[in-house]
Amino acid sequence: MEHYIIICNSTQHMLNADKILKQNGIKTELVPAPAEYGSVCSTAIKINAYNIDMAKELLYGNSISVKGIYPYKIRKLDGLINRLNKGLDSDIKDVLKKVEMGIELDEDDIVTILSANGDENLSSIYNAADEMRKAIVGDVVDIRAAIEFSNICRKNCFYCGLRRDNMLVERYRMSIDEIVDTAKELKKIGIKTVILQSGEDLWYTEEKIIEIIKRIKKETKMRITLSIGERNEEEYRHYKEAGANNFLLKIETTNREIFKNIHPDDDFDYRVKCSEWLRKYGYINGNGNIIGLPGQTARDIAKDIIFFKEMGIHMVGIGPFVPAKGTPFESLPHGDVEMTLKTVAATRLVLKNVFIPATTALATVDKDAQVKALMSGANTIMLISTPEKYRNRYRIYSNKNMVDIDTAYRAVIKAERKMPPYINKEFLKLLN
Ligand code: SF4
Repeated sequence: MEHYIIICNSTQHMLNADKILKQNGIKTELVPAPAEYGSVCSTAIKINAYNIDMAKELLYGNSISVKGIYPYKIRKLDGLINRLNKGLDSDIKDVLKKVEMGIELDEDDIVTILSANGDENLSSIYNAADEMRKAIVGDVVDIRAAIEFSNICRKNCFYCGLRRDNMLVERYRMSIDEIVDTAKELKKIGIKTVILQSGEDLWYTEEKIIEIIKRIKKETKMRITLSIGERNEEEYRHYKEAGANNFLLKIETTNREIFKNIHPDDDFDYRVKCSEWLRKYGYINGNGNIIGLPGQTARDIAKDIIFFKEMGIHMVGIGPFVPAKGTPFESLPHGDVEMTLKTVAATRLVLKNVFIPATTALATVDKDAQVKALMSGANTIMLISTPEKYRNRYRIYSNKNMVDIDTAYRAVIKAERKMPPYINKEFLKLLN
C-alpha cells in the first residue's frame, strides 16, 4: 500500500496536525522523518495515500504550517546482494534481498536475522546494516555526554545495581550547582547534548528538575536529554516546556511476562503510557532493550524492534544484560555480544533514520564491541561524564567500562568513521 509523509515546520504544528487528522478518522503513524527530508531528530506523520486529499484539506483549513508532503519512499540499497558474501544461507539472502529492494522487513524477517550464525551470514548482515547507516545518517558519529547525577532509586529492578535494596552501593546526590558546572565543562569540549541520568530519585522534585533544565539552557545552550525514569504526564509536559529536548525511557523488553519478572515495582502498561506521553509532548523519544534477559527469545527481541518502529522512536539503546553485584541476578551470565550486534543491525535495517548508540554495556562485556557496533549500524557514542568522585558509584551493572572522549575518539577512528565537527579541535589535537 502506498503512503505519504507530512513534515511540519515545528513540533507543535506536527502534534496539532496529528491530532486533527486522527479526530477526523485518518489513521496516522509518527515516524522519524526520512533523512532526505529532515534531520534524524524530526518526526513525520505517515498516512495512507488514499487519505491524502482529505488530509491536505484539513491541514490547510486549520492553518497548520506544513513544510512538505512527500510520497513515502522506502530506502533501497541497489546492488547490495552482489556486494555481500556469496555463501549466504538462502533465508538470510531472501531477507537481505528485501532490504536491497526497499521492502519493509516484518517480524519473521527480523527473527531470521537474529537467528543467523556463521561468519559469512553475520558479516553480511552487519555490512548491510552498515550500508544502510551510511546511506541514511552518514559517517559522523554523534557524541553525547551523560551526567549521572544521583544513584538513589525508589525501585528494586532485579537486574540493576542501583536497586534500593542493594546495600553494597554508596549513595550520592549531586547538587544543582554541581550538575550545571559539569555541563559547563562539557560545553568547553564542544558537546552539544547532555544526558541527565539518575535512578528514580524523587528528592529531585519537579521544581528542582525544571531549575536544572532552565539553568543548563541559559548557561550553556546545550540540548538536554532527561533519563530519570517514570514520572507523571504533567511533569513530562512541564519539563518539555522548560526546555528539555529528548527523553530516554527504556522498555527493556516488550514481553510482559519477562517485564514483570524483572521489574517488581513496575507496570508494563504504565511504562508504555509514559512513552506515549513523551511522544505526545514532542520529545525526541529514546527507548531501548536489554539483550540476554532470562527467558528472552529472538522473537521477543524482534517484537521489541517492531514496538520501537510503531512508537516512532528516534533513539534506540541496545545493550547486553550485564550482572550487577548485590542483585538477585548477580550470578547470571551476561548477554551475548553477537546477539546484541545482530539486534543493532536489525534495528538499523528496520527503523533506518534513528540514533543507535554503541552502548557502554557493550564496551563493558567486550572492549572491541563498541567498534563492532559502529560497524553494524550504530552511529552514536555516549560518554560517561559524571565527576570522578561519584563516577565509580553509578553502577547499574558491575565492571562498567568508563567511556570518555579519548575512548570514543579511538573507537571512531578504528571504525573508520568521523568525529562530529562540533567537538573542540584543540581538544582533539591533545589526543593525537
Ligand atoms: S533500572 Fe532504573 S528504576 Fe530500576 S532500579 Fe535501576 S535505576 Fe532504579
